[in-house]
Order: sequence, then C-alpha cells, then structure tokens
Amino acid sequence: MNVYDSARMADVMAPEGYVSTETADDADLVILNTCHIREKAAEKVYSELGRLRDSEEDGTMIAVAGCVAQAEGDEIMRRAPYVDLVVGPQSYHRLPKLVAGAVAERDRSGRSRVIDTDFPAESKFDFMPAAQVSGPSAFLTIQEGCDKFCAFCVVPYTRGAEFSRPVDAVLNEAQQLVSDGVIEITLLGQNVNAYHGDDDGLAGLIRKLSVINGLERIRYTTSHPRDMTPDLIAVHGEVPQLMPYLHLPIQSGSDSILARMNRKHGADDYLKTIDALRAVRPDIALSSDFIVGHPGETDADFDATMALIKNVEYAQAYSFKYSKRPGTPASDMDDQIPEEVKSDRLAALQALLNEQQLAFNKQTIGAAIPVLFERRGKLPNQIAGRSPCMQAVHVTCPTEEAADRYFGKTVPIHITDAFANSLTGTLDDGVAAESTQRESARA
Ligand code: SF4
Repeated sequence: MNVYDSARMADVMAPEGYVSTETADDADLVILNTCHIREKAAEKVYSELGRLRDSEEDGTMIAVAGCVAQAEGDEIMRRAPYVDLVVGPQSYHRLPKLVAGAVAERDRSGRSRVIDTDFPAESKFDFMPAAQVSGPSAFLTIQEGCDKFCAFCVVPYTRGAEFSRPVDAVLNEAQQLVSDGVIEITLLGQNVNAYHGDDDGLAGLIRKLSVINGLERIRYTTSHPRDMTPDLIAVHGEVPQLMPYLHLPIQSGSDSILARMNRKHGADDYLKTIDALRAVRPDIALSSDFIVGHPGETDADFDATMALIKNVEYAQAYSFKYSKRPGTPASDMDDQIPEEVKSDRLAALQALLNEQQLAFNKQTIGAAIPVLFERRGKLPNQIAGRSPCMQAVHVTCPTEEAADRYFGKTVPIHITDAFANSLTGTLDDGVAAESTQRESARA
C-alpha cells in the first residue's frame, strides 16, 4: 500500500512540474512516506527527519505523509519544527494545493506549518490522475481503512473506516492499466476482501475483471479470514486469471489469543477456510502473518500457533514480535511478554516457516512454470519475475538482448534450483540460467 501511495503522490505532483529524483539531496521537496505498522515507527521517522534536516540545503521543503503523519501530526510539527507539511493518507489528492500553500507561507513568513490530517468527505480517488505504468505489474487500490479494530493494530485509527471504491471506477482504472501494457493487477486494501463496491463483493469484482482482454493475472491483498465468503472461495476455483496464491493472516493459532486480539474467529474457522480453498484450488500457495508474544500469550498458546503452522504448511509468511502501538487496547494490557521470551518464540517460529518455505520451493524443481518477468535482475543479463505462486524466479540470459526480449512477458521456465527466497531456471528456448554463487550464498 505504501509503495502504491508513494507512486500516486508522484503522479499527483507530476502536473505541477515535479519529477522524482534519484537521491533526496537533489530534491526541492522531500516527502517522507511513513508506516505505523513496524516497531518504533515514530522514532524512526524522527531520526530520518533529523538526517534530512542535516543533509538538505536550506530551502528544501520537507513533508511527512502516511500513517505516522496521521497519528502524530501536531507532535511532528512540535518535535521537528523544520518540517513544512504534514499530510495524512486520505488527503494525497490535495498535495499540489498543500505544497503551494506551504511555499506561499514560507515566502511570506520564512517558514511554513501546513497540516492536513482530515478524513475528507470527498474520495481522494475521484481527484487523482491516472496511475503511471512502469512495468507489466500494477497495484490498484480498491478499498481503504478498516472497521475490525484488532487489539494490536493502529490501522483503523490512521486509515479510518472501511471505504470501497465503486466497481465502475475500479474497472475503468483496470482497463486503462491494461491498455497501457499492464498484464498483472494486484488489488489492494487494508481489508481488501471486505470490499463492497460491487453488489457481489470482491468475488463480483474479480469476475468482472476476468473478462478484460489482456489481463492475465489477478491478485489481491490483504485479506481477513472473516471476510473469506463462500462466493470468494468459489472464485478461486472458477477464474483462471486469479493466481493460486493467497495471503491470509491469522496472527496466532490459539483461540484465547485470537479472542484477546479481537479477531472474531477461531483457529478452526481459519482451518475450515483453508480446506475449502484447497478443495476448489488444490495448488493454492498460502501465506500468513504471525505476531508472537501478544500480551497474555502462554507457552501453550504459542504451541497452538506452531501446531497450526505445521497443519497448514505455508509457502511463505511474515512474522513479528508483538510491539506496542500507543492508543491500541493491547498496549494497555497488563500481561505483556518479556522481550527474551518473544525473541525465543520468534526464532522457533521462523525456523519452522523457513523450513516450509524451502520445502515448498524445492518441490518446483523440474517443473515448468509460467513466469512473468517484471524487472531486470541484479546480475548482468539477468531477468527476475514471479511464478503464479509469487515465488521470485531468476534467469540469466546469454545476452542483454535476450534479457530485454523477455522483460514484461510471461514465459514458461524450467525450474532447475530452489532456495529459501527464490528459484532459478532455464527458458524454454534452451537459454541457460546460471545458479550463481551469489544466489547460492544468499540461500
Ligand atoms: S483487520 Fe488488519 S488492518 Fe484491520 S484492525 Fe485487524 S490487523 Fe488492523
């Protein structure tokens, strides 16, 4: 979502003559787009702001955007008085006006102090220009905000209530992206499967997207288990363009922790959903998020999480130690878990997940899978892409021209080797891929 938002901010400033620079040093305006999900997010923002203040020329404007801006607007202005502008995630469409206001205020009084952290009545999407396409894959925001109020999470406070874009607006944007050369669209939302811009929800939207000529791949993220409706599960078996990969966070395998997290479902409900998905799409790769050491988590609770992971067998997952977010219910719970216990549990959980990820990747060795090449690799003549199951695939071509030929295309690849985080393979036309020393070292 933040990658998408940053790109959209660049899009919205482009008509004003702003272009992206390679480094902050070259910029007239630096926008720090912030995320409140990670640990010590606000402190990281202040230290980054300090660095920017020290390195920037006088006159460079500094803006703070994103969820930390939303949560700490006035505090940012107090602690970092050299910041010119603070803008929340719902006001990006107003950036040109806000920047112009900040420039005028500076001209008048020598400094500017512009804050916009409102939740405006109008939808920012109605005012944003068309997204600039920079490759075969694109993000498309269809939903923002969240009404779930999980005990540990700050999103409902920073992104506001659930809002879904109307289906026609989404379809128009998707059609435009495909006309501009996009063949893979990832639908985005903090709670994307709560989408209600179509009468048939996200399932209806996916069915409508699937008839767009030229749209080869559809994905969506991030989902909540409670919103995996039978119709949405059925779409996974019906629509071939919907890739066999689903990120479905559960956070914990313990019912008592799930209740304390206010997730409003149990581990069994989640497992039933997984079974139903696998019944209609047996090859679906599953991913999740896990938080270890949520307040009140006992050894038995943690064991339940490990048992659930063993049961599901994930293709990949993201895992974190619980850390407090000010203003959330979990931050006030009195049975916080000691840091060293969290660290031990996280190490055990990640070891299991890494084992499963490697096993999942290794089973593709020898198979031919369609890979969409979306960027050049780090090595000479290398191209990088994604399998249907979201695995990173690297292929080294004999020449630059060969690498260029496959960029932006979906090509069958014979997988020759698998590592924890990537696969390597050969092109169908016999171009050899090399499992480089660097990739072996990384694995
Ligand atoms: S559903 Fe996701 S975004 Fe919403 S409160 Fe829970 S963790 Fe946060």
